[in-house]
This record gives sequence, structure tokens and C-alpha cells, in this order.
Amino acid sequence: MAENIITKEAILEALSHVQEPELHRDLVSLNMIKDIQIDGKRVRFKIELTTPACPLKGKIEQEARQAVLALDGVQEVQIEMTSNVPNDGRVRNLLDLPIRNAIAVGSGKGGVGKSTIAVNLAVCLAQRGARVGLLDADIYGPNIPTMMGVNRLPPQTGQKILPAEAYQVKLMSIGFLVRSDQPLIWRGPMLHSAIRQFLSDVNWGELDYLVVDLPPGTGDAALSLSQSLPLSGGVIVTLPQQVSLDDARRGIEMFRQLEVPVLGVIENMSFLELPDGTKMDIFGSGGGKVLADQAGVPFIGAIPIDPEVRISGDNGVPVVIARPESVVAKAFVRISEEIAAKISVAALKGAAAVRP
Ligand code: ADP
Repeated sequence: MAENIITKEAILEALSHVQEPELHRDLVSLNMIKDIQIDGKRVRFKIELTTPACPLKGKIEQEARQAVLALDGVQEVQIEMTSNVPNDGRVRNLLDLPIRNAIAVGSGKGGVGKSTIAVNLAVCLAQRGARVGLLDADIYGPNIPTMMGVNRLPPQTGQKILPAEAYQVKLMSIGFLVRSDQPLIWRGPMLHSAIRQFLSDVNWGELDYLVVDLPPGTGDAALSLSQSLPLSGGVIVTLPQQVSLDDARRGIEMFRQLEVPVLGVIENMSFLELPDGTKMDIFGSGGGKVLADQAGVPFIGAIPIDPEVRISGDNGVPVVIARPESVVAKAFVRISEEIAAKISVAALKGAAAVRP
């Protein structure tokens, strides 16, 4: 009989209107519905809860049953209530790595100095004695090896990939694995597994900080990263110009959607300092601060334009090493300390929340 064919889609559609009362989301988008079986007018499926001790189990079951029974042609609904208890990592299939804090550096568009900031941040943290890794996840334009003055991985011995090391920072980049003239074309699943491999197949050892240079844009890499390890926070780099600020706003939104705490906004190439010490606005500084205020996130700081930044980057010696006394290097040090402080505060708050 053609009239009353029950489909999985129809069942999922019906269940997508049933809310998990505590999480305030529907059972389907929470991926709680498993093993739908249709046998004539009888429908069977499992509801997988996050705890077997769910106090609202009965209510969820009843509402799910009613929703499916309301479908044309369904006479009987059998529901098996199961559970799969996550820990905070496994809930999103996170990797278990000895990395204390992962910091993602993102931007709306390329060319705003995101990689430069990731490099100088990593080197500053390492100079202060932290154990630091730097992951170049900017798979479309991996230029961190150049900026760090390394072009290959060390001789490999064990099963895991030994990262390169420069300025006491452990370093991994897709740039080590492909020739620089090879175009890099990535599809979503490849990108996802590449990012997971960069984390799980690389012998990072214990790290206090892993700084991750994300590809520009609101892309898949950030999603893969946030699904692979718990991110302590994300920073967004912007130029002072309006167009760049608009892109940066989308970057902030991206972190928010991924539930990554936004540590704040950095305004790069903010001003030019003339030899007499006066500051010259090239692009009109201050936009980063306004953006941060509007978005309700902290403003971490401004970094001036200085040709030394580009020169030292091209030479493979980050400016905080090459010109430690310069105004720009001091600005990098300040923002690095600011970021480290914000992460510590967040970690302490988190710990306090868990241990009352
Ligand atoms: P992104 O990672 O956002 O694409 P990069 O870090 O590669 O950007 O920076 C783009 C270019 O701008 C590089 O040549 C870099 O050396 C230069 N640059 C970045 N920040 C500054 C700065 N504050 N002053 C001068 N040049 C800078």
C-alpha cells in the first residue's frame, strides 16, 4: 500500500521537534537518535542519553513516542533508552594530548599579519620558559617555516613525526610535507584528517602552549581544530581599516559559534612610529578597539608597522629575537604577556568552577 509508507526521514523530522529539556536542543541535532528500524507499522529506535541517571528520561521518552505515533501509519513505537557518558573531551571526540593550552590565531582575511603574530607570540612565550609548540594550520599558505628559518623536519626516528624546532619552539607545518610550488587543494574531510594528524601523529611532548596559526576566513580548519582539542581561546588579528574590521567581526563570530572563548582582538600595522617618536596613522588606528568594544570582547593591543617585521620574517629570525629593543618587538612582548595572563585567569576560573 503506497499511502502510508513510513520513512526514516519522517521519523527524524518528527523527533527533531522533541527537545532535550536540559540542553534546550532537539534530539536529532544532538545526535541522540540511533538505530531506527521500521517494520510495517512498527517503529523501533534508541535514544542515547549522555547519562543513564538522566532525571528527565521518562519525559523525553514519552514525548518522543508521541511525536512518532502522530505520524501517519505508525501504530507502535518501541524505544530503548541507552546512554553514552562522555568526559569533557570525548563529548566531541577530542584527542587526549598533554597540551595544557591551545591558542588559535585567526583572521577574517589573509595578509593581516596573523602568521607573524603567531610566530612572535610562540617565541615570546618560549623565551619566558614555557614549553611551546607552533602548529601552522594555514594549509593554503604555510609560511611559518620561512618565518622561523627552518625548511625541513629533523631526521625521523620513531613512529610519530618529530617536529622541527627553532628558538625553543616546536614547529609543525604542511609546508614541510609538500613542495612550495605544489598547489594545495583541500577538501573538507582531507583537511579535517590532516589537522587531526598534525595533533595526534606529531610528537609534541608536553606543552604549556600550542599556538595554532589558522587559515584566514571562517573556515573548516577552525571547526576541525575545535573538534580535535579543547581550545583555551582564540585571538583575532585585524588591520585598522573598515574592510578588515568587518572581516574580523566574522572571525569573532566564528569562534563564538564554535564555543571557543575569544581572548580578544589585536590590531596589527596600527601606526607608523617616526624617528622623532611621533605616531603616524596610516590606515587610521583605533578601529580594533572599537570593534572589540562593540563585540564585547577584550582589546589585547596594537602592533605598529615596522619594515623590520617583514625583513626579519623573510630572514627567518622573528623580530622579537632580531630586534628585541625595537618598539614593535616590545609591542609583541606586551600582547604575548596579555594573552598568557588571560589564559591563566580563565584556567583559574575554570578550576574554581569545577572545585568549589
Ligand atoms: P597573514 O598570516 O595574515 O597572511 P603574514 O603574517 O604573512 O599575514 O603577514 C603579511 C606580510 O605583512 C608579511 O610580509 C609580514 O612580514 C608583514 N607584516 C606583518 N605584520 C607587520 C608589521 N607589524 N609591520 C610590517 N610588516 C608586517
